[in-house]
Amino acid sequence: MSFTFYMPTKVIMGKDCIEQNVDMFSDFGKNALIVTGKKSAKLSGALRDICNVLAKKQITYTIFDEVFSNPTINIVRKGAEKAKNKNVEFVIGIGGGSPLDAAKAIAILINNDLSDEDLFSSSELNNVLPLIAVPITAGTGSEVTPFAIITDSSTEKKKSIRSDKIFPKIAFLDEKYTHSLSTEITINTALDGLSHAIEGYLAKKSIMPSDLIAEECLKIYGLVLPELIQNNINKGMRELLLYASMLAGQVISQTGTTVVHAMGYYLTTHKKIDHGRANALIISEFLEFAKNEQIEKVNRIYMLMNLRNHELFVELINQLLGEKETITDEELKTFSQFVMQESHVQNTIPVPEIEVVEDIYKKSLW
Ligand code: NAP
Ligand code: ZN
Repeated sequence: MSFTFYMPTKVIMGKDCIEQNVDMFSDFGKNALIVTGKKSAKLSGALRDICNVLAKKQITYTIFDEVFSNPTINIVRKGAEKAKNKNVEFVIGIGGGSPLDAAKAIAILINNDLSDEDLFSSSELNNVLPLIAVPITAGTGSEVTPFAIITDSSTEKKKSIRSDKIFPKIAFLDEKYTHSLSTEITINTALDGLSHAIEGYLAKKSIMPSDLIAEECLKIYGLVLPELIQNNINKGMRELLLYASMLAGQVISQTGTTVVHAMGYYLTTHKKIDHGRANALIISEFLEFAKNEQIEKVNRIYMLMNLRNHELFVELINQLLGEKETITDEELKTFSQFVMQESHVQNTIPVPEIEVVEDIYKKSLW
């Protein structure tokens, strides 16, 4: 047995966990930058709670609330610019994956004057500011990952910044902030978490402890996803979704994602399909393909989710997705060529040829 498992983020979960841990904020300094999207940080109550805690500890702050979904390098640079010369000592990200990822990139750029190329290669990162993450969607797990997924404004491609230095120092998980999510976003983000658990479980880089965590996630998704079809979402389920999402984030922190995420990225950038939904559109056909070399693990996924077979898995996903988008022959050819250049392909077992990627796109979106 041989592996490295690294998870440096302190995860604090529970009702009112921010207010109950006021003192922790002072450890990071006297001046913070808060990074959020336009509305949801306010709507969820998380921004108010953070501001109250900072005021209690006499920590001054600047708010950057302009992050939109699938944030671009340009918006990240705008956020970093706003913080420069303000002696910011730490960053607080509140949001779905988009503001959390933007906060990570901003935490790098405040003290590092990097070109886009150097930022994405993440090699020389010094003085990255510490980050506190408050997830208010339940799916990306970004609060515990070393990744920031940022859209390259010049090529319109989604790219990863990957560095251990952007693991958040603390993640505060309070399910009350997810109550304001619409059913659609709840489902899409839950499906992203499911995708992380499945892809991490089947990835070339999977390791025993990440498999153990993935199995726990799969049990939870098996329990909660059928309830989402009925729009039957109570507090307990929201808590489980937030918990599973964080665990699935720990999985991909070790394993990375597979061809599913690479394929999903082009559905998001070129067809404006939400990130979690994009993965879920691909996942069923991916499992059919993965069976070629990993039949035992694929069957175990169904078993853990309390589904008897592949057909029941497909039915569950299809019910959650509703009417599916379609793809043209030209689109699937172009996207497949892009996908083959992504490192995710080599992290997939078996490693797919371009014809396989085309076939998965075709069967998934007809
Ligand atoms: P998101 O893009 O952060 O947010 C989607 C929408 O949900 C936005 O309109 C947002 O509003 C709204 N919203 C968020 N929280 C809400 C709440 N509590 N109540 C009501 N509305 C709320 O969605 P996401 O799926 O969480 O994140 C997707 C991004 O994460 C993608 O860019 C993806 O590539 C990335 N990702 C990163 C990782 C990683 O490890 N770093 C992993 C997976 C995915 P506002 O605009 O007002 O905030
Ligand atoms: Zn994802």
